[in-house]
Amino acid sequence: MTNLEPKAFSKEGVRNWPVTLTLGLTFLAAIILVPWYGITQGFSAWAWGFFVFFMLFTGVGIGSGYHRLWSHRTYKAHPAWEWLMAVAGGMAVQNSILIWAARHRVHHRSVDDDDKDPYSIGRGFWYAHVGWMLRDYRSGQVDYKIVPDLKKNKIVMWQHKHYLELVLLTNVGLPMLLGWMVGDFWGVFLLAGLGRLVLNHHFTFFINSLAHMWGKQPFTDENSARDNWFIAIFTYGEGYHNYHHLFQNDYRNGIRWFNIDLNKWVIACASFLGLASDLRRTPQFKILRARLHMDFKRARQRLEADPANPRWKELLDTLEGEYAEYLGTIKEWQNLQMEKVQASKEKLQASKEKLQDTLDRSFRELEKSLQMQRKRVALLAAQAYG
Ligand SMILES: [Zn+2]
Ligand SMILES: [Zn+2]
Repeated sequence: MTNLEPKAFSKEGVRNWPVTLTLGLTFLAAIILVPWYGITQGFSAWAWGFFVFFMLFTGVGIGSGYHRLWSHRTYKAHPAWEWLMAVAGGMAVQNSILIWAARHRVHHRSVDDDDKDPYSIGRGFWYAHVGWMLRDYRSGQVDYKIVPDLKKNKIVMWQHKHYLELVLLTNVGLPMLLGWMVGDFWGVFLLAGLGRLVLNHHFTFFINSLAHMWGKQPFTDENSARDNWFIAIFTYGEGYHNYHHLFQNDYRNGIRWFNIDLNKWVIACASFLGLASDLRRTPQFKILRARLHMDFKRARQRLEADPANPRWKELLDTLEGEYAEYLGTIKEWQNLQMEKVQASKEKLQASKEKLQDTLDRSFRELEKSLQMQRKRVALLAAQAYG
């Protein structure tokens, strides 16, 4: 049995040498050796191919495995898929699933709380990006009580126990073997092994640093998380972080079809192949409700900042009227939810289906009314500009 007792915590801010050396030396080696080898020797097509493949492989291991499967349970997975994600995520050298998920759940629960959030952006860009790992901080102490489900998972526990062997095998053994097989030993090792590792590290770290600073907050401004399509490109979808912090149980981070969210597509493909099931989505109504809530908040702020507007009183009254209607729609939706629960208890299958049908229609109507209201509030906010 693996010893789950966390390392004894001595003092805030004591240097963590194993992590500092691993991250520091791989970074230095990568920025010197990879360009040097590329210029003097050149990389083969094999080296580039393996580089791209392992970038995606490890990125998906972290995003679809560590993050969306194990930290948030946004879908259920076939054991074959869990094994694949355990190996792919382990290859990214970001600690075992158990430790990663335990810290990440605390990050969500206590986001922006400098004393609790392991990588709180309140302590600055550097700290949230990488600084939190380089020294021992009380907020980084792993509490395994937050991952009781994972402690019961055989694959997760196997990975936790054999983490070091897995890291060495996938980061040293595998690139060397592949390089030897295709006749470009150093090229594959440096580009697909070392360069890929460091790039994947910092792309992931950007989610904790940049995605908590730079971007829009369309769903909530109660925490620092941002939506940023640019960050989403190289984090395979994790850049839609504002949405994710509000709706962490959704297997998608970028919800619209054109949002670049590779992990969402990978999970959908896995589900198509029978490797994933029960993909969780936030009901459309809740998403609209959150957006409209922000729309109201911003329109009100805009109006309050502009009391000289000649139509101020009229606009504010209209806004309050819209808000009352919004609250009414929410009440109606809550009532429908209760009816839905009742309908599911209905004994006769035929009448159950009929009831569900009527309810689904009513749900769609409520969604539609929120959509229309969003347009009206946007128009109102535009008028508030004067
Ligand atoms: Zn976050
Ligand atoms: Zn998360």
